[in-house]
Amino acid sequence: MVISKRINSIKESITLATEAKAKQLAREGRDIIGFGAGEPDFDTPTHIKEAAKKAIEEGFTKYTPASGMKELKSAICKKLREENNLFYRENQVIVSCGAKHAIFNAIMTLCEEGDEVILPSPFWVSYPEMIRASGAKIVIIETDHKNDFKVTSEQLERAITPRTKLFILNYPSNPTGTVYLKEELEELAKVILKHRIFCLSDEIYEKILYDNTDFVSIASLNEEMKDLTILVNGVSKAYSMTGWRIGYACADEKIIQAMSSFQSHSTSNPTSISQKAALAALTGPQDCVSKMVEEFAKRRNYIVDKLNSIKGVSCFKPKGAFYVFPCIKELLGKKYKGKLIESSLQFSEVLLEEANVAVVAGIAFGNDDYIRLSYATSLRNIEKGIDRIKDFVEKLN
Ligand SMILES: *Cc1c(COP(=O)(O)O)cnc(C)c1O
Repeated sequence: MVISKRINSIKESITLATEAKAKQLAREGRDIIGFGAGEPDFDTPTHIKEAAKKAIEEGFTKYTPASGMKELKSAICKKLREENNLFYRENQVIVSCGAKHAIFNAIMTLCEEGDEVILPSPFWVSYPEMIRASGAKIVIIETDHKNDFKVTSEQLERAITPRTKLFILNYPSNPTGTVYLKEELEELAKVILKHRIFCLSDEIYEKILYDNTDFVSIASLNEEMKDLTILVNGVSKAYSMTGWRIGYACADEKIIQAMSSFQSHSTSNPTSISQKAALAALTGPQDCVSKMVEEFAKRRNYIVDKLNSIKGVSCFKPKGAFYVFPCIKELLGKKYKGKLIESSLQFSEVLLEEANVAVVAGIAFGNDDYIRLSYATSLRNIEKGIDRIKDFVEKLN
């Protein structure tokens, strides 16, 4: 075998494959409406781009410390102190090449063969593959619609064994958009503290919230919980900076030091210019964020109502992020022009082929009864796309 066992076990991302297929068809001249995007459709705000240009002009184009420059770490600490009531020192912060890289570093640093990692499903596509790469075993907790896609403390308690190392929490969630309330986090924290497992809290959608929902980081509940949390966040989603690749993690100093050593031999520092841009994002005006969220809120209201008006489709109303995760269970087993649709993957394939609409199969996120649509696209596209889905579903028999 040429390819190592570790890497051979890793699957291609279905989300990226769907995007690629949709783009291919669009290039062939088909009028495709894409709901696959995992990134905001807004431009990076001007003041952030200006900071990057300035960095280049001033020659800020060399290596920075591998774990990120001091000024940015200090701005991250200030943000967490002021917005999340969390007190971290700079040596408890690492800046990485995107939140994804921060999560990868954390999992590789904490987990190995013999360990178990508890992962609530539906999950973001990269977690299982990262856990697999570390050699640890994935333990899934199923959540559903009826419970707003949230893990209960009883479920968590049942999933824990003496080998459990880490519990992964992500809210607002990709793909469901669910957001945990403080009381729910307190219940989970009790179980986490009782068994002293680590919690990786992926807070990348922290700023994208609706209905006046408050964001509470599980790390901010108490000092003990903070010690067991690896908090991950970044600028990609909040400031429409996905291509800049800046994310960060905060945790106990020993963990951050180990992650920094690992990073220093893999990527070294994240791009110096992007770090300056991220600094501008965190310390500059924040109205760009609220404007984007306002626009997302309009689209969310529209898309949820419209999806729920389709017979056989039911859609949870998300409290955050920019995805909807409608249930299509009732439609499975039906046919479109004689083509049998038995899985979310087949549903998304036939929908793309026959109705020119790209959605991501729920199986990519661990549940075959759903599909994921991103509403990081214009309201006009959403209207057109959902109309096509409605027509498509009405022709199923
Ligand atoms: C987009 C996303 C990330 C990765 O963000 P980057 O900073 O672009 O690497 C991490 N977690 C979730 C749940 C995401 O959806």
